[in-house]
Amino acid sequence: MKDIEFLIIGSGPGGTSAALKLVQAGRRVLMIERGDFLPKEAENRDSQAVYGERRYRTSERWIDQEGEEFQPWMHFHVGGNAKLYGSAHFRFREADFGEVPYDEGMSPAWPISYSDLASYYDEAEALYRVHGNRSMDASEPTGRPYPYGPLKDEPAISQLKRGLTETGISSFPLPVGVSPGESSGGWETDLAHFDAYPDPSLSKADPEAVALDSLQGGRFELLTKTQALRFLHRDGQVIGLEVEREGQREVLQAERYLCSAGAIQSAKLFLNSGDDGAFANSSGQVGRNYMAHLCSAGSATFKEAVPDKFAKTFGTNHWYQPDRGGCLAGSIQTQGKWDAAQYELEPWTHLDGYDSRQLAEHGLEFFFMTEDLPLPQNRIQLDSGGRLHLHRELSNRALHQQLVDEFGAALAELPTDSLTLRHYRSQLMPVAWCTHQCGTLRFGLDPTTSVLTPDCRAHDLDNLWVLDGSFFPSSSALNPTLTIVANALRVGEKLATL
Ligand SMILES: Cc1cc2nc3c(=O)[nH]c(=O)nc-3n(C[C@H](O)[C@H](O)[C@H](O)COP(=O)(O)OP(=O)(O)OC[C@H]3O[C@@H](n4cnc5c(N)ncnc54)[C@H](O)[C@@H]3O)c2cc1C
Repeated sequence: MKDIEFLIIGSGPGGTSAALKLVQAGRRVLMIERGDFLPKEAENRDSQAVYGERRYRTSERWIDQEGEEFQPWMHFHVGGNAKLYGSAHFRFREADFGEVPYDEGMSPAWPISYSDLASYYDEAEALYRVHGNRSMDASEPTGRPYPYGPLKDEPAISQLKRGLTETGISSFPLPVGVSPGESSGGWETDLAHFDAYPDPSLSKADPEAVALDSLQGGRFELLTKTQALRFLHRDGQVIGLEVEREGQREVLQAERYLCSAGAIQSAKLFLNSGDDGAFANSSGQVGRNYMAHLCSAGSATFKEAVPDKFAKTFGTNHWYQPDRGGCLAGSIQTQGKWDAAQYELEPWTHLDGYDSRQLAEHGLEFFFMTEDLPLPQNRIQLDSGGRLHLHRELSNRALHQQLVDEFGAALAELPTDSLTLRHYRSQLMPVAWCTHQCGTLRFGLDPTTSVLTPDCRAHDLDNLWVLDGSFFPSSSALNPTLTIVANALRVGEKLATL
């Protein structure tokens, strides 16, 4: 493509959402993506292939603060990590945009407010086909209904919700981005393989499903298997992007550059682009303030069988009420529904007297999220060999444990006509679980403490913007993608007028 106006790095939710705004406004966009299209094949729905063999995860190894290598939960494909995500979509609450005090420190305010994103959240929910029932979650920041009604609860989830309501714990249909019943290339929807699986039917609302068709046309080009290596710059301007493509290095040029490689890879690209990490880094904040939520997986084993195939319709913010001055411990949602092969692969779930098949037959799996504080020492660094180091100290740990424990206590008190809890255990997700990564290039009004302006342009460069979750100054305790999409639509709309 000649005369590129905008060069976008990364085809995930952030990059594709901004591209939509630009292409709709008649602008010329080149997008590069280091990965290729994820193959649509039987293994997409095979838990041994997806979880056991990690077929779609990067084989890269990074290094944690103890000097140990780990394989990150990262997926480099067209559509980004959202090819394997759970598609649970929340707006951040109004209070999440202000300062939120925790015992261990302050969650900082954003330079924009909820109202700056509100109309883009509306668009993002429509684009990502979100199904839900807003009226059932008192923490919701708007009364506007979701574009689609809630997905139907299967029997065990219905029983769980009814029982929890009786014990005073409110829940709601988890807002999920999906078009059930969609089929593509001969693949039908299969909700039994949803969260953490790629979806060959394109029913799950990932960027390939919701954005790529609308981008096609003479004004958009996608180069796959093209990895950005470093920005070339002069006098406060990016003047080129060095990339590797089919084993060759070349320089791509555009009027403006939009980085959306994910919060860790974008920070890496910045650190690679200047001597001693000096690129766009007059604040000294590039790569710092890494957050990824404190997350735990939980497994509950009940006396009754749990026949549900798609259990991802339960959410509760009973313990996350930032707007109401109430509890801040975090949010809880169900995972898809694990099968025996997944239980086999998770030794922390194993119980005497149960084999993996019985654990799957009687089990429900939950996911717990607590807000992470932006600690400057939690950072991405590159060593002299270019290897990525990820330093991660946990904050709000006691609060997170409280969330997990209180939910377990609530399950143990379910009334007799609901489910009967036999066993409950959880596991804190390790550093490799960097799926909710954010904060590494935070935005702010003050160029001495932030990397990006409130419009996500680098303070130090005139023609470079960032669209992935790097810009978050705080993480909230809710899934990040809808906010990444809404912000990318906001920034993309502004860029289209330049
Ligand atoms: C198993 C799993 C479950 C999840 N569940 C949820 C959920 O339910 N709800 C939710 O909100 N979020 C969820 N997430 C997180 C969600 O996937 C991310 O928030 C979202 O994908 C971030 O979008 P992004 O565009 O910022 O980055 P990404 O999706 O990471 O996209 C970045 C893209 O850039 C490409 N790239 C990276 N480096 C380069 C380079 N140097 N050159 C060229 N291209 C590059 C990558 O290959 C990738 O395609 C989940 C993630 C996983 C893995």
